[in-house]
Amino acid sequence: MNQTRDSIADVWGQRTPFYNEAWPIRVDQHLIAEPDHWVKSACVLCSNGCGLEIGVKDGHIVGVRGQAEDRVNHGRLGPKGLHSWVANNSKDRLRMPLIRKNGTLAEVTWDEAMDLIVSKSKKIIAEQTALGIGFYTSGQLFLEEYYTLGVIGKAGIGTPHMDGNTRLCTATAAAALKESFGTDGQPGSYTDLDIADTILHCGHNIASQQTVLWSRILDRLAGASPPKIIVIDPRKTFTAEKATVHLSPRVGTNIPVINGLLNLVIQSGNVDHHFINQHTVGYDELVKVVSKWTPEKVEQVSGVPAIKLKEAGRLLAETKNLVSTVLQGFYQSMQATAAAVQVNNLHLIRGMIGRDGCGIYQMNGQPTAQNTRECGADGDMPAFRNWSNKKHIEELAELWNVEVDKIPHWAPPTHAMQIWRYAEQGSIKMLWISGTNPAVSMPDLARIRKILDKEDLFVIVQDAFMTETGSHADVILPAAIWGEKTGCFTNVDRTVHISHKAVDPPGEARPDLDIFMDYARRMDFRDKDGAPLLKWNDAGGAFEAWKQCSKGRPCDYSGMSYEKLSRGSGIQWPCNEQFPDGARHLYTDGQFNTAAGFCETYGHDLDTGAAITEEQYKAHNPDGKAFIKPSDFMPPHELPDDEYPFMLTTGRVVYHFHTRTKTGRSKELNDAAPDAFVQISAFDADQLGIAEGDMIEVESRRGKVTEPARIGDIEPGLLFIPFHYGSWDDPGRSRAANELTITEWDPVSKQPHFKYSAVKIQKAGGSFLTKIGDVVKDVATAINLKL
Ligand code: SF4
Repeated sequence: MNQTRDSIADVWGQRTPFYNEAWPIRVDQHLIAEPDHWVKSACVLCSNGCGLEIGVKDGHIVGVRGQAEDRVNHGRLGPKGLHSWVANNSKDRLRMPLIRKNGTLAEVTWDEAMDLIVSKSKKIIAEQTALGIGFYTSGQLFLEEYYTLGVIGKAGIGTPHMDGNTRLCTATAAAALKESFGTDGQPGSYTDLDIADTILHCGHNIASQQTVLWSRILDRLAGASPPKIIVIDPRKTFTAEKATVHLSPRVGTNIPVINGLLNLVIQSGNVDHHFINQHTVGYDELVKVVSKWTPEKVEQVSGVPAIKLKEAGRLLAETKNLVSTVLQGFYQSMQATAAAVQVNNLHLIRGMIGRDGCGIYQMNGQPTAQNTRECGADGDMPAFRNWSNKKHIEELAELWNVEVDKIPHWAPPTHAMQIWRYAEQGSIKMLWISGTNPAVSMPDLARIRKILDKEDLFVIVQDAFMTETGSHADVILPAAIWGEKTGCFTNVDRTVHISHKAVDPPGEARPDLDIFMDYARRMDFRDKDGAPLLKWNDAGGAFEAWKQCSKGRPCDYSGMSYEKLSRGSGIQWPCNEQFPDGARHLYTDGQFNTAAGFCETYGHDLDTGAAITEEQYKAHNPDGKAFIKPSDFMPPHELPDDEYPFMLTTGRVVYHFHTRTKTGRSKELNDAAPDAFVQISAFDADQLGIAEGDMIEVESRRGKVTEPARIGDIEPGLLFIPFHYGSWDDPGRSRAANELTITEWDPVSKQPHFKYSAVKIQKAGGSFLTKIGDVVKDVATAINLKL
């Protein structure tokens, strides 16, 4: 084996200190044999999108190496990037389509599988219109696949029921950007980290999730002028260990903390009144709402000591520039969009946006989540168009040459939680699941399994492996994955990479794009002149069509080509005549995408989710100014009580991605993190007589799991279970964290609340602690304070 470093033992690798210069190159590599050639690609194991090359020998992938000239990683790769390619070569790949016959999944030809899907589709459409069909896709397909699927759903079938598992991880990122700036699109650039004085991580354990990005920060910390780091996270994570100030709020109290910080910054007088007056609306209302969040009141509700909050507030008020990142600790918790928007507000009131050193990253969880949002496969309209703006829908109708009314736009595209509800109620009769595993990743899994098993629901699963979800399917379509197909994807700082096909897929597995195009052909989808609806036959054709769709919109790809993307580094959008090499920042002139005719949404009430109408919006047309939208605190809907006295939160570990479909098949990654666990404070473990490794039963109102105990680095009253682990490699034990989580979601982004569930625990075979402890009681009382 040839590897440049042991990324399992040393996740982030050797330091290359720097400040205010190009991040030094360090090429990481992992090979099991010497390649006969290299193929250009990027990593699809998180939203960082590190540039890499795939090593190929005798038609098989034998390893990867980081791409030195790529702007995202400068050659580095993390443990997931270096090891999870082995999943491609796994012996248990799906190779043939399967159809359930007499209760058993049996191998069939592609013709048989597709004919069944087409006949079911036509029957359902004939009997109950296109509304009987729903799609639940992924954050791991390629741009060309999402765009093709979006066109099929919107202009072929005409169903509004299309969303992705990105609803679970990145919906709040999109919602927060739209609410503040008018459209989706990350304003900053990773190069901001190279000079930032202060970095704020909100509910984001970046050290575990985007390990290479964290390496960039570690290198800044090791160099001249190291930045100050502020971390908001209830757990003492790897990220929190490096914090200048770690704020550890009670679960569900992000809003008091971020409002408290805004209040301190405003009180300091260090706000940019010129920027606020010229480029924003809503500042006075923000001042009114946050002014009551004194450090003492924040401490009372969130448990964050006033002294620590003041220190963080001082850093934010005095810094010359600022990078902020936000992720699931905000997105999957109470008041998700409201809390994420407050981070945008912090940048707006300090005028720290659209220039070097000032980036906001409303982070994405999954590698290609950005593309689902751009292409309209996730509950959005393509190229950040507004479903309720008639002109935007007319543009799409013209582009696709279909009647305007073919495109569903009488209501917002259906979000994932509602798609599952419709399937539960029986109005959706066919659910096509591609590249994701909801039987492990959705909340309240007992309910999800029940829906998947409904007699009147026809379930198609398109995946590379037999997953927990696949075992409930009526039809399984074997999919080619990264390395076996060509396509593009976009990371969190708008960098677009091309990933070329390196090897053939196993057996008869096909790229998702080919499967969708085959379906469109067999369904005979046509435009209004009788020509085939899809005007492309391959990934390159789909990319060209997408360029046309995106031209003139914020995510403008019209200046890109496969050839240009294949040359060196990935390229940031917008890339067009004005920015032929891409643009580092959005909003450099203080002009935001909020003009009524251009914006992606007219916005929402952050507390109720009530939509603002076109008329209301136009009456206050911000016309290029950003929105400063405040929000006040609302307690979580489920709190600990005598019966369920602990609060559970869920999340990820550094060595795994999503439901371990790929990372679980790497020996190195799996050996590093072989099993789920329940993290419990030393205080609670001591009270309950729990030792490290004891098997613990954790039960909520929805279900029960049994996990080994891991003690420490968490607040009393709080438990943590990683959500990656299902049953495919351990069918003997219930261990999926989502057996316990709650079916609830944010009113604006519709992202589920994975971060809080009331639970009870006991040592396996013992009896449950049902009397609420003093610490937990204090927490519940404090959170529920009438304010
Ligand atoms: S940081 Fe993300 S994109 Fe980069 S190598 Fe690791 S998993 Fe892959």
